[in-house]
Amino acid sequence: GVEISHLSKSFGDNLVLDDISMSVKPGSVTALIGPSGSGKSTLLRCVNLLETPDAGSVTVGTQTIDAGTTIKDRDLLALRRQVGMVFQSFNLFPHYTVLRNIAFPQEKILGRSRAEAEERAMTLLERVGLKEKALQHPGRCSGGQQQRIAIVRALALNPRVMLFDEPTSALDPEVGIEVLAVMRELADAGMTMIVVTHEMQFARDVGDHLVVMAEGHIIEQGNPAEIMASPREERTRRFLSAVL
Ligand code: ATP
Ligand code: MG
Repeated sequence: GVEISHLSKSFGDNLVLDDISMSVKPGSVTALIGPSGSGKSTLLRCVNLLETPDAGSVTVGTQTIDAGTTIKDRDLLALRRQVGMVFQSFNLFPHYTVLRNIAFPQEKILGRSRAEAEERAMTLLERVGLKEKALQHPGRCSGGQQQRIAIVRALALNPRVMLFDEPTSALDPEVGIEVLAVMRELADAGMTMIVVTHEMQFARDVGDHLVVMAEGHIIEQGNPAEIMASPREERTRRFLSAVL
């Protein structure tokens, strides 16, 4: 799982995360919601150390990074290897085929042979219904297909945890559904996930836990259906009425 403990992060004098603590059980799905600017993306980026926290610690599996100590590169890499991340924009290499997009990181990061990496890529592409796209370039794929390819690229590295930052918000609703279906399968298969999303139905149906952020704080967390039915906080109520 993931353990976030007393995490704080500022940009200049803007305190973006203020003493955040939360834990994600292995095999569970946490949905993270909150208004724009509340710190959701920054929190995800701190989990895989794309941002360095000012204080607090992050544990993924057995690897802990503590901002209060000198962070060793070796530990940083060890933690990052356990975390897959999918963004709103897919960030595929446009000049590589779909297959190379998925195989190349495995070769570079895990040292897999090309044959091994491509075999793993094909298996995963088949799982998301995109085997026939393997030799095309991403530009020839729809937004929903590109996002599924981005998910496969991350999964191919065997992460312990998957982080999703608004994976469907750049997509048309009907295309987003294909991506959400892949995420749901992943959750059913037992992947530990943290998902920043405005898809409340997904958060309720697939989420085991809901975390509501506002202004750098967790203002409420608990069972998704319960919070959506009867939020305790006025700010949660306001946010939900804007997105539901
Ligand atoms: P959204 O729903 O719009 O994606 P968010 O909850 O993901 O919002 P963040 O992107 O985490 O919010 O941003 C939180 C705050 O941190 C904002 O005030 C933002 O301007 C600031 N911020 C984020 N990244 C940086 C950065 N690299 N440098 C300076 N400020 C930043
Ligand atoms: Mg964001």
